[in-house]
Amino acid sequence: MNRTLEAIRAACTETHGCWLWRGALIHGKSPQATFPDGGGKLVRRVAFELAGGRLLGSRYVLVSTCDQDTCCNPEHLQQISKSRKLRDEYAEGTRRRRSAPPPPKRKLTAEQAQEVRDAEEPRAVVAERYGITASHVNRIRRGECWQRRLASVFDLAAVAGVGT
Ligand SMILES: [Zn+2]
Repeated sequence: MNRTLEAIRAACTETHGCWLWRGALIHGKSPQATFPDGGGKLVRRVAFELAGGRLLGSRYVLVSTCDQDTCCNPEHLQQISKSRKLRDEYAEGTRRRRSAPPPPKRKLTAEQAQEVRDAEEPRAVVAERYGITASHVNRIRRGECWQRRLASVFDLAAVAGVGT
């Protein structure tokens, strides 16, 4: 198995064939970590590609065939179109037709968020530097966004006792 995929697996708790992510989640359900080749990434997308899958672009999403939102086992991941996912969710009644407004987009990397927290300047100055609003700075400083620095998938794997 690919070394990065092995690390992803080691950073998960395996149960009933599922690899349940123990690291950080976006929106409470999407596993995220940093990878050596370029910052924070959605772990499931990385796993899917490492297992030989080809991501088809922004009109497609990965869903879990096992119904575990945090499962990173590529064998449990399936790529479907967003429109099909919506149809499925309406059919299952898991999504209401009048959906809530989307959460604000995160415009910063984890490293930038840490810089925002560490910055000594007034929030308006920090906001301007990073191109975000002053209230966004407040939320970052209060820990409502980017609560913790994203861990590297290999660090998570090392904690699980997997040698390199
Ligand atoms: Zn699974």
